[in-house]
Amino acid sequence: MIVVMQARATDQDIENVVGQIRDLGLQAHVSRGTERTIIGVIGDERLIRKERLALLPHVDDVIPILKPYKLASREFKQENTVVDVAGVRIGGKAVIIIAGPCSVENEEQIMATAELVKAAGAHLLRGGAYKPRTSPYAFQGLGPDGLKLLAKVREKTGLGIVTEVMESSEAEIVAEYADMVQVGARNMHNSKLLRSLARINKPVLLKRNFSATLNEFLMSAEYLLSGGNSRVVLCERGIRTFVDYSRNTLDLNIVPAVHQLSHLPIIVDPSHGTGRQDLVLPMSLAAIAAGADGLLVEVHPHPAEALSDGEQSITPEMFQTLVQQVRAVAQAVGRL
Ligand code: PEP
Ligand code: MN
Repeated sequence: MIVVMQARATDQDIENVVGQIRDLGLQAHVSRGTERTIIGVIGDERLIRKERLALLPHVDDVIPILKPYKLASREFKQENTVVDVAGVRIGGKAVIIIAGPCSVENEEQIMATAELVKAAGAHLLRGGAYKPRTSPYAFQGLGPDGLKLLAKVREKTGLGIVTEVMESSEAEIVAEYADMVQVGARNMHNSKLLRSLARINKPVLLKRNFSATLNEFLMSAEYLLSGGNSRVVLCERGIRTFVDYSRNTLDLNIVPAVHQLSHLPIIVDPSHGTGRQDLVLPMSLAAIAAGADGLLVEVHPHPAEALSDGEQSITPEMFQTLVQQVRAVAQAVGRL
């Protein structure tokens, strides 16, 4: 349920409504817009009668939200959410490109990649220190040492850092180093991890699980929002289908579908979405044409030598071309 306050409602009127909601054991989420304040009622709505709120001073309307996700819905918040990551705004007019290697491997590799992607026009640097790998024998990431290298690279290049957290016990240390914390596809359903990331003061990049429905994806975002972290960016990274020519099937349908249903920004990861270096550029362009707010792209100075995901990593030269072409498509669809 959402309570829409009249434009002339005072802070006292808003407090009054919030108090009534809390007295019933429900949560109130206050969203102050430029013109109006909207209060979301979170919890079992059957506990509250609509009239009880509708008749309070300067309440304009009380509207039920029919979707299972509330705070993530457009019904709750009409204007697009813009998430600030180290001064880079995701969800605004500009298309944002996050680039870097799958894994942080060593200082030379991460520093060189960062400098090259920055020169080509990347806005933020990605790189995993904690890696979710299919095989227990594969490279698992450098852990805290990887985080320290990322911090060093940020210091030198000024690029904000996006890096993955795999479990709640590591949330604090990853958040200490990262400018944006990534939840990987395998962890999208991990509600305990989502709850712990709801309490950190860092934006979250939430990747879609490869078998998640749109509803499940937005419900995972709801865990973050309802737990108090409103800085959430969604990421489509491909789903499992019957096709065998690509690692996953990039579900670009979800981009405009999310924009209809939610105010949250959504970016696209064509690297994991295709698993193929040669498909990354065309699918990046398609993603921007479909309305994505940005891209997450794996770039490695020597893809053949990468310790993870080399087959889908593009070279810095390819990335340069990608940025130029993405800019052209962005302009064609009214973005920057
Ligand atoms: C990654 O971004 O390197 C990654 C592991 O992605 P996903 O969680 O989408 O598989
Ligand atoms: Mn990867």
